[in-house]
Amino acid sequence: MIYLDHAASTALRPEARAARDDVLALGPANPTGAHARAQAVRAALEDARESLACDLGVAPGRVVFTSGGTESDNWAVRAGAERGTVLYSAVEHPAVAVPAEATGGTVIPVDTEGRVDVTAFEGLVVDHRDRIGCVSVMAANNETGVLQPLAEIGEVLGTHCPGCIFHSDAVQAFTKAVLDVDAWGLGAVSLSGHKIGAPVGIGALVLGEGVELTPLLVGGGQERGHRAGTPDAAGAAAFAAAAHAALTDDWERVRGLRDELEASLGAEVEGLVVHGQDAPRVPTHLHVGIPGVAADMAVIACDMAGLAVSSGSSCSSGAQEASATLAAMGAAGDGALRFSLGWTTTSEDIAAALDITVDVVRRLRG
Ligand code: PLP
Repeated sequence: MIYLDHAASTALRPEARAARDDVLALGPANPTGAHARAQAVRAALEDARESLACDLGVAPGRVVFTSGGTESDNWAVRAGAERGTVLYSAVEHPAVAVPAEATGGTVIPVDTEGRVDVTAFEGLVVDHRDRIGCVSVMAANNETGVLQPLAEIGEVLGTHCPGCIFHSDAVQAFTKAVLDVDAWGLGAVSLSGHKIGAPVGIGALVLGEGVELTPLLVGGGQERGHRAGTPDAAGAAAFAAAAHAALTDDWERVRGLRDELEASLGAEVEGLVVHGQDAPRVPTHLHVGIPGVAADMAVIACDMAGLAVSSGSSCSSGAQEASATLAAMGAAGDGALRFSLGWTTTSEDIAAALDITVDVVRRLRG
């Protein structure tokens, strides 16, 4: 099968598998225990924290391991809402948008490329300045891969709203685009392991210098009181190893393959629209609209021909629903397909994916 659904979950990296297995080989132990084996597992957990923190350029105490992107997003938004109104972009993942909407948050509009317009954003911030508790703008969109101007947004917040929490869901961007937690004034950053080559079930919330958030999970005092629950030391080791490997990957190679697929599809498929084409994007995502083609049918037909892609507008149950991202961009949303490449993608994959897609579009257009 040709797998171009890496944005949903990417392949486990050998470095991550080895790091996880090394911790599991220590035997059963709770890292909070007092005996020697527990201490060995705890040391592995702290090594992972240190490695990830070093790769992010932050102090280790600011990395809190979580179960993944959803938990990190929920935590940041809910804790941020305790401080005042949540401002969140119109293209946020549901893990941010749903809790933010539940708090009565205010939506930050985006332009036709799906980016926050910094001048308009500044006006919104000035209007709401006295009651903003948290601003949540993702680093890269999960459907289009479009990158947000986080440095400029951070500058606006530093000027007008220095006390609010600036949260970014960097689940899709981490390791594939620059992420400068401190220079951009970020107070909380969500990361997810299975998007970068670690197993599902591990992630992190990286806190800004001096930032304290009310815990989402309460009970024990694990993770220095930030998150209750037995920490997943094997998962953390895998996550840190995957991050380290992914940060030195050749993403320009992947960008070249993505651009090749984009250009070839554009040449072969009449009326093809590339969402976010003129905006800066992560090198892995290609989100297209194919007029006259039902996206769910195209995904099934591609799957039957051996190509795994996503409609880019399906909810977690797999049912079709309108894409909030495309709606916010004012895009028609017809035949929305997401091809997402990963560290294992080859030029042979791209050539085969092109042939299959062109054939599927031809058949579905009848
Ligand atoms: N945020 C974004 C941008 C995502 O793409 C995803 C997963 O698709 C999540 C959050 C949720 O991450 P997780 O699957 O680790 O809960």
